[in-house]
Amino acid sequence: MGLYSYFSFIRREKGYILETLSSFNVFLAGVIQALGLPWLRIAYIPCFAALSFFFGPKIMIPLSLTIPFLEARHFTQGSFKEEAFFIGATVLTVSILSVILTQIKKERDTVKRSLARLKEEAEDMDSGAGIDRISRERLISEHLSATNKANTEIRELLFIAKHVLSADSASLFTCREDGLTLRCSTDESPSSSISHEGSIAQCMREKRSVVSYSDPAGNAASSQIAIPVLDGTFVAGVLTAQRIASGPFDKQDTKTVEMLSEQITRTLHRHRVISQINREHTGLKILHEGSSSLIKSLKIEDIAQNLIEVAFTIAPLSIALFVPQGDLYELIYQVGFVPPEEKLFDFGNSIPGMAVRNGESLYISDLKNNKTPVLPFKTARAGSIFALPLIYEKELSGILIFLSEKNSALSSYQIELLEVLGNQASLSLANAQFHHELERMAVTDGLTGLYNHRHFQETLSSEFKRLQRFSNPLSLLLVDIDFFKKVNDAYGHPVGDEILKGVAEIIRETVRNIDIPARYGGEEFAAILLGANHEEARKIAERLRRAVMDKQFSIDGEDLKVTVSIGAATSPHDAETKEQIIEKADQALYYAKRTGRDRCVLWNEIRGENG
Ligand code: GH3
Ligand code: MG
Ligand code: MG
Repeated sequence: MGLYSYFSFIRREKGYILETLSSFNVFLAGVIQALGLPWLRIAYIPCFAALSFFFGPKIMIPLSLTIPFLEARHFTQGSFKEEAFFIGATVLTVSILSVILTQIKKERDTVKRSLARLKEEAEDMDSGAGIDRISRERLISEHLSATNKANTEIRELLFIAKHVLSADSASLFTCREDGLTLRCSTDESPSSSISHEGSIAQCMREKRSVVSYSDPAGNAASSQIAIPVLDGTFVAGVLTAQRIASGPFDKQDTKTVEMLSEQITRTLHRHRVISQINREHTGLKILHEGSSSLIKSLKIEDIAQNLIEVAFTIAPLSIALFVPQGDLYELIYQVGFVPPEEKLFDFGNSIPGMAVRNGESLYISDLKNNKTPVLPFKTARAGSIFALPLIYEKELSGILIFLSEKNSALSSYQIELLEVLGNQASLSLANAQFHHELERMAVTDGLTGLYNHRHFQETLSSEFKRLQRFSNPLSLLLVDIDFFKKVNDAYGHPVGDEILKGVAEIIRETVRNIDIPARYGGEEFAAILLGANHEEARKIAERLRRAVMDKQFSIDGEDLKVTVSIGAATSPHDAETKEQIIEKADQALYYAKRTGRDRCVLWNEIRGENG
């Protein structure tokens, strides 16, 4: 016992090994000689064998080579051949023994170390410290730097299982949607590890360890152990080990594999957590950056473009954004679609229409059996569609459409991210729409919906500034309802208001899209006709006068008609400044009133009379 402790100590400390052992050798030789019993030299073998247990071949072989020197006396006294044979056999036996014992020790140490590491990790996982202790970033970078780390770890565990059980192979099968697949094996050609399919199935079904033993005629008997890898109560996979021709597995083996199976569960779980964190981190980063880009602008077009760019990084499909315009939907921005000619669409009973009516996102992963129209315009082949209404405080501010030729183009995680993005976007869009509405209100006349006097003045100023750079003509019409006071007097102010609205509507419809119609004040209107010379100004003014003259108003059961007088002036021919053009159009209007009303007068035609 004392000797054992002493040898263990000097092996650990690695000091005075050779000195100690040589002294031991000399001591042994001395004892043999003192007793005068040469046959006792046989004791060298057990003594050296015992020493081989502590020291490797590097020490034991040189040590055994010292025996012949200690025994030199016998060579001279006895038979030289016999002595040489005895010494040679001793040295050889000791050398072989030390090599074998060292090898066994090495393997035992490897398994011991691995088990100690497993124990440590298991304790870490159980206390939950594993994840808290390591920062998120480090986990992610670790995961990225070794995507196959999980498999490597599992393979290591399988080799341990193989070793501990003295098995021929160990494999891990994991459950996937399409059944059980071999994930990892110690076997080079793993097909041989799936011979006991029945026991694997039984293990999955009953969620317990199953040991099977088969002894087919002609083949070597094989024993298999199948242990469920449980994730909670869910079977995540099956761990198997196989032993051929070395007897069935026993209870102790089952316990060992159960322990390893628990470790595999932890490894799988840990790697799932890491990849989930990584996925969430990337998704949240896109959302964070994307959301901040959404609030940078108050222009619907800018928001639409940013939104679709962010959505595209989450789901690279064909994407379109529509915003409601009355009962219709305006296509604001799109990627991946063949650009449709129209801009306004009736969703009707198409898929986006259904999503809008239900106020909920709608994902159809396979459009094969779909009967309703996919979109209100023609698209390439459609395999799956995701319609995401953007709703802010119960108000629809837009709808995002994702279309793919492929079925199941979106994962549930992508949908989740897009819904969060949609939430953000609905707020940004609602803000932009509110801002747009405020801007519109600031330039609009409340009664008629035409531009107000202020906007008219501002636009005319800026158009005159532009005129200085480009020599395009511009005409101004001033329109005044004839004898409007009489309408008010006869039918009342509210009827007068309706007439004002009606005339405004006719003006809006008569001028061109590029023109700017405004309420100048009271029952007077103005229209800036961009790029219009005398000729065009006359045409538009005359068309307007006739349209009002022909219009039969029917208000509160009263049929009534009104007429308008129109004065026009053109720049740069008649006027070079904003003030001049207003003054001259006004002079022409006054002339029209004086000369009978219900007529159009161009300042150009009366210039002689007005100077
Ligand atoms: P004419 O221009 O042909 O010379 O005669 P008129 O009767 O139209 O001209 P006047 O300028 O004398 O009268 C304009 C009337 O328009 C006076 C006012 O009561 C009416 N008016 C101005 N603004 C409004 C309005 O917002 N609503 C209504 N109902 N009437 C208005
Ligand atoms: Mg007037
Ligand atoms: Mg008038």
